[in-house]
Amino acid sequence: MKVLKFGGSSVASAESFAKVVEIITEAVAKDVCIVVLSAVQGTTDALIDVGRDAEKGNGAFREKIKIIENKHFEIVRELIPISLHSSILSFLKKRLNELESFCEGVFMLRELTTRTLDRIVSFGEILSSNILAAKLNSFQIENVWKDTRELVRTDSKFGFAAVDFQATNLQIKSYFDSTASKLFVLPGFIASDASGATTTLGRGGSDYTASIVAAAVNAEILEIWTDVSGMMTADPRLVQTSRNIKHISYQEAMELSHFGAKVIYPPTIQPVMNKRIPVWIKNTFAPEDFGTLIEAETTLEKEAIRGISSISKISVLSLEGSGMVGIPGFSKRLFDALSRAHINVVLITQSSSEHSICVAVEEEYSKIAKEIVDAEFVYEISVGKIEPLKIENDLSILAVVGENMKNHPGISGKMFGTLGHNGINIHAIAQGSSERNISAIISSKDVKKAINTLHEEFFSGGTKQVNIFLVGIGTVGSKLIEQIRQQREYLRQNLRLNLRVVGVANSRQMIFDEEGIKLENLPALLSAAPPMNLAEFTDLILQTNLRNSIFVDATANRKVADIYPKLLAKSVSVIACNKIACSAAYEDYLRLKDLAREFNTAFLFETNVGAGLPIINTLNDLLRSGDKINRIEAVLSGTLNFVFNHYDGSGTFASIVRKAQAEGFTEPDPRLDLSGTDVARKILILAREAGYELEMEDVENTPFLPASCFEGSVEDFYTEMERHETHFRQMLEKAQRENLALKYIAGFESGKPSVGLQQIASDNNFANLSGKDNAVLYYTNRYPEQPLVVKGAGAGADVTAAGVFADIIRAARV
Ligand code: ADP
Ligand code: ASP
Ligand code: MG
Repeated sequence: MKVLKFGGSSVASAESFAKVVEIITEAVAKDVCIVVLSAVQGTTDALIDVGRDAEKGNGAFREKIKIIENKHFEIVRELIPISLHSSILSFLKKRLNELESFCEGVFMLRELTTRTLDRIVSFGEILSSNILAAKLNSFQIENVWKDTRELVRTDSKFGFAAVDFQATNLQIKSYFDSTASKLFVLPGFIASDASGATTTLGRGGSDYTASIVAAAVNAEILEIWTDVSGMMTADPRLVQTSRNIKHISYQEAMELSHFGAKVIYPPTIQPVMNKRIPVWIKNTFAPEDFGTLIEAETTLEKEAIRGISSISKISVLSLEGSGMVGIPGFSKRLFDALSRAHINVVLITQSSSEHSICVAVEEEYSKIAKEIVDAEFVYEISVGKIEPLKIENDLSILAVVGENMKNHPGISGKMFGTLGHNGINIHAIAQGSSERNISAIISSKDVKKAINTLHEEFFSGGTKQVNIFLVGIGTVGSKLIEQIRQQREYLRQNLRLNLRVVGVANSRQMIFDEEGIKLENLPALLSAAPPMNLAEFTDLILQTNLRNSIFVDATANRKVADIYPKLLAKSVSVIACNKIACSAAYEDYLRLKDLAREFNTAFLFETNVGAGLPIINTLNDLLRSGDKINRIEAVLSGTLNFVFNHYDGSGTFASIVRKAQAEGFTEPDPRLDLSGTDVARKILILAREAGYELEMEDVENTPFLPASCFEGSVEDFYTEMERHETHFRQMLEKAQRENLALKYIAGFESGKPSVGLQQIASDNNFANLSGKDNAVLYYTNRYPEQPLVVKGAGAGADVTAAGVFADIIRAARV
């Protein structure tokens, strides 16, 4: 004997009914089958709605009953040959008239008891199961319809009745022992109490009906037919990459469903587990898929965890007070009070100091819970032994489930580490002593992000999604986009990183696409996009709350640098090629580094010095391995290099600077380069990274340009340089006379940073630096005489973008 249960989604339309009939036909050819059916999808909700309208005195309930009627009639008309319509349609009509009479009663009395509501919702399963029986009859498939209310006996807790297994098992056994048929059709969900009043088994309860029947008749198997191909590693509506679980133990299935995997109603497992009857979850719409087999033993698959689930609309109640410490009986009184009010406790944690007990309940019960708990402890509250019950709303429970967790230490570390990296705050934690699940209470707004990151972390083969927000699409920003496009597939395959660019803005426009922007169309998309508003852009990053978010600043704008703290404090990584933040007040620089540490995220700025050259990373590696930086010498300005390499007297100094600007080697404002400010910022950043607390004013800067060049606009700057051509010519000739070359050099020694133009001899370390090359010489304890040298192209959009890209990958892999 076999029990098959079909859910509401399997009987949502005539088409689905037809699929169900196919499955039944095949099954009944091999075995005696008991079919348990849910209401047509959406009907139970609609019936509750009808009841509530009637209670409120809203006549709309009549129209809503009509809609229910139409839906069922339509299914019948499509499903069953016309010659057989009249008997089933008149049956349905009679039931719907009954329903309407009940509702008229409610309407008149303006009162809807849970008892009446159960009677009202019972029509859903009665209608659907009779349609199925009629369809089977039309195919001459012999079957017997049986009212489950005559089989399943419960107490009188309407809406959520508890089964009286002794009476139920007897009724079921004697019925099936005494009735001969190859096929039975039963409505799920409904039952009756000792007085014969209709009760229901809780929402989703048809699964439970099927399990109760399967256990009572000792079925060989219980099949749950639904709209997914089995239990999945996470709710497929939340996690696109969730996978099917082929085998799972009763306990694991129970925990997953208890914590929100709706595919099976939690109480379902118990009756069949006691009898060791396997449960097979199958997809009505893809019967060839294996589905999920739930059994006592499962082979240990390699993953430490089996699935992740969540329950939303949770409130946490905290009972706190010093008066509880060491005195037994408080928790008993708390739980007794909740149980008297029929409030189901989903999760419990107690601090070991016994100073507080936290329980999670469904949000709808939080108000009543507060009333009854405060009433229970009214005396203790009045004398200050404990505080009135505290309530936090808008929470969810997140649970990681797996039998195999016992054998894998570090699962909770990994779980909380991953959540931490993503700025997800944990309100409470519980781990069952079975070590089969770890659950955490988090804000509901974080659920999607949390489940997805954990899923990527725990299921091998999973690819980590990285979400990038880029501000600044000048030369560097556009190159970066190009490089991301090129490398995306490689990163997916080799590093299992799925890079998506979700937000892009320049100074004029901004675009945002939560599903990832189509980068091929970026210019077109951007030109049609709404105007840029930095505050809005920042809010969007925080509101979309995507996992592994990385903000990239490819501007030279102070306002953009100002938003870093806000982002870091929400665990959004910040990658800056903008130098402003790191060269601002030391206190601000330190704060950003501290924020990144505190919120477990990355603040990286390798391109602040020497574009893509590994200058800062090398320095960090030296320090981390215990070395000490004693002296730095560096050529850090591609611009000034270019200018002095090209200035040979054949053209004016100003014309060479113009050329450098035209070729994109200068900062947007070339005065930042020529004044030495840009180089000063770079050596300051290096000195700070080397562990020195220094300000911009501490950098000794000997200018080589006459002061008048820095007055007025950029154009004035060029005019003024032309006017001072002799000054530059003299500098050049003086160097040439001594057979020396001009180099703009940054230094750091004895804790003092400096920048300035120097004359160097042909054997100097920097003598052969050509073009826009940069070079940094680190003199350290380990490299005292021969410095460690980092050298190469230190400017240009391509290499800078590559440096930013490398920082992105570094941040993504934190
Ligand atoms: P039925 O109508 O057959 O009773 P339900 O809607 O009650 O079906 O349950 C099936 C749904 O459960 C699926 O469509 C899926 O969206 C949801 N679900 C939630 N968590 C999981 C999970 N871990 N695995 C599979 N399905 C899940
Ligand atoms: N029809 C009921 C509900 O929607 C029972 C079920 O479908 O399992 O909750
Ligand atoms: Mg269900």
